[in-house]
Amino acid sequence: MAIYPIRTFGDPILRTKAEPVSDFDRHLERLVEDMLETMYDAPGVGLAAPQIGISKRVFVYDIGEGPGAVVNPEILETSGTFEFDEGCLSIPGHFWPITRPEYARVAGQDVDGQPIELEGDELMGRMLQHEVDHLAGTLLIKRLERDLKTEFMREWRQAQL
Ligand SMILES: [Zn+2]
Repeated sequence: MAIYPIRTFGDPILRTKAEPVSDFDRHLERLVEDMLETMYDAPGVGLAAPQIGISKRVFVYDIGEGPGAVVNPEILETSGTFEFDEGCLSIPGHFWPITRPEYARVAGQDVDGQPIELEGDELMGRMLQHEVDHLAGTLLIKRLERDLKTEFMREWRQAQL
């Protein structure tokens, strides 16, 4: 197993749509193991493959109920609204109140290619939406209210100088 460096805001891979996975082989198993190790080390409750520089539709998670991995996830359904202080391992040190649907249901595959479904509200629902966003190349900055987004971008540009 290996811990990867986590890509941060500004890295183009985080804005790139990830490729579907078609090979359910030893490499995929290894990728999931490494992603879990990287996520626990960070620590975080979810990690998508592009965050470690791999543009594939895979994410891992553990919201405190044990580890899981989803390959080729798609959101089937969302409902309700829920404001939550959301952060991202790729934007370290920031948490913003973001309103999203409270409940989400996701379909995908496990590491063996078998169909799976996951659902949940509150933290689980939030994690599912956040990780599927990553695979579409969407960071939570895009979900921020305009003022917060402007403030973050100004701060980020200054830090690049
Ligand atoms: Zn994230």
